[in-house]
Amino acid sequence: MREILVAGNWKMNGSSSGSEELVDGIVAGVPAGNGFELLVCPPFPYLAAVAARLAGSGVKLGAQNVSEHDAGAYTGEVAPAMLKDVGCQYVIVGHSERRAMYDESSARVAAKFQSAQAAGLTPILCVGETLSERENGQTEAVVDEQLGAVVDAAGVAAFESAVIAYEPVWAIGTGMTATPEQAQDVHRHIREQLAMQDKVVADGVQILYGGSMKGDNAAGLLAMQDIDGGLIGGASLKAAVFLAIAAAAASN
Ligand code: PEP
Repeated sequence: MREILVAGNWKMNGSSSGSEELVDGIVAGVPAGNGFELLVCPPFPYLAAVAARLAGSGVKLGAQNVSEHDAGAYTGEVAPAMLKDVGCQYVIVGHSERRAMYDESSARVAAKFQSAQAAGLTPILCVGETLSERENGQTEAVVDEQLGAVVDAAGVAAFESAVIAYEPVWAIGTGMTATPEQAQDVHRHIREQLAMQDKVVADGVQILYGGSMKGDNAAGLLAMQDIDGGLIGGASLKAAVFLAIAAAAASN
């Protein structure tokens, strides 16, 4: 039985006081229930302060990016061990904004995935197609390439302790959400791809949906067989809105 994971990606938003207010609001309103987990991914400078406020709450902490290197002369980068050191359990790798704006190749994403795992972090591997790729019938090919790069580098067993987020690029920050059926089709495909190599791993891995998930569409998406949670951007920046998605997960 896979738990539902509701993860907030705060992106490059907020301030010191705003992050603390947001996390306090989330911690104060965590819905009762079993079978779901909550995770917040603040910007790097706020991780330690958010970690302190999450202590004992059960809400988990993640980062939005990580270096593929362990230490050394990589100005501006943050090592996996540093994230672990400040209390992170998860890290997002391969978000479409990083692939598109910072030229992160699938090979580099795979290296980040591996270095994160080596440091004891759970990577959340983002995959997903652009609108033109979808319209050209390339959705599965795109997802296969992004997933395949990591499977080839790390092996399918690495997904015993990793999460996948299917995030159609056309749905991120646009207000356009994939229908539950559209999302389920891709989630099922991802699971089938992994199952060809290891059915147990495929059955166990959490596959989140991301792309304009909100309180009013979360229940429909989370009801689908292969959708195991959400990676939420805009709707994770207000405690009440994020908690509405958490409530949908808690009643799933
Ligand atoms: C994201 O960036 O991961 C995301 C899903 O953003 P939004 O929820 O704002 O579409």
